[in-house]
Amino acid sequence: MLSEFDLIKQFFKRDRPGRATLGIGDDCALLTPVPGRQLAISSDMLVEDRHFFAGADPFMLGHKSLAVNLSDLAAMGARPSAFTLALALPAADPVWLEGFSRGLFALSDAHGCELVGGDTTKGPLTICITVVGDLAPGHALRRDAAQVGDDIWISGTLGDARLALAGSWQEVTLDPADHAQAAQRMHMPSPRVALGLALAAQPVAHAALDISDGLVGDLGHILAASRVGATLDVDALPAGPVLARQELALRRRFTLAGGDDYELCFTAPVGNRAAVLEAGRASGTAVTRVGRIEAEAGLRLVDADGTPLHLELSGWDHFS
Ligand code: ADP
Ligand code: MG
Repeated sequence: MLSEFDLIKQFFKRDRPGRATLGIGDDCALLTPVPGRQLAISSDMLVEDRHFFAGADPFMLGHKSLAVNLSDLAAMGARPSAFTLALALPAADPVWLEGFSRGLFALSDAHGCELVGGDTTKGPLTICITVVGDLAPGHALRRDAAQVGDDIWISGTLGDARLALAGSWQEVTLDPADHAQAAQRMHMPSPRVALGLALAAQPVAHAALDISDGLVGDLGHILAASRVGATLDVDALPAGPVLARQELALRRRFTLAGGDDYELCFTAPVGNRAAVLEAGRASGTAVTRVGRIEAEAGLRLVDADGTPLHLELSGWDHFS
């Protein structure tokens, strides 16, 4: 049986020099801040049976646990630097730990984001990561920064993760190849770090957040914090490739209120349209303009002709 310390040494402590001044092994990690930069810090927790199914593939879980955290840094326009990992494990299963750590480090290496510490305990499978990033003071893409007249933009595509769930729950019938493709979106989200950095550089964008609970609910956070309203062109919303082949009502429902998309929703002045498209091009991320920030409170949904739509939607609230 692996002890707690063997487990950390074998799967999480790496024999290579890191950028942290002091990494895993002492009571605290030590990071030396870059002079003149601000720190961005965020935590996200994944709990078995709440955020993923029991028996979920450990490699994908390692990827997703860090991806959802990097997505928060992306939404702020921050550059990832380090993270901690708090793990509750039902057992010290080397096969599970090997897959999990491989998925975790593949993504962490891709983003130059170093594991510097954590905590390990026995308990129901729970993964809590805290990420640290940095950005130029005044350049953070805050939720309270949307301005009347801003365009609303979305990165990538929406709805395939929710469609995969609908397939698993047999709300819709998907052929196995489509289901597998949509499920990939749910299990292996791509945090839009490069886009977030490009949007925060000038800055090009005003407000941003990452869409984890569905666009309507999440955009609502920007509207509330910025004390503005908006109109969304529902038919302009970019559906995931699998969802794009489904019927209109389902497309509208899952692009508006899907969940688990981890795309960015951001606002930018009309005068920055070319700069937003350039940020998308430079970061290799599609960006689509889907609406407008307005002074009148509330969210209005319209179709491609501008005709108001009245759709029954709900976001994802863990306590409802
Ligand atoms: P403490 O006695 O302060 O609780 P621990 O014995 O839990 O410290 O951890 C020993 C070292 O291993 C610390 O540097 C801690 O940050 C690190 N650590 C513990 N669990 C993990 C983990 N899951 N991933 C990375 N580092 C970890
Ligand atoms: Mg401890």
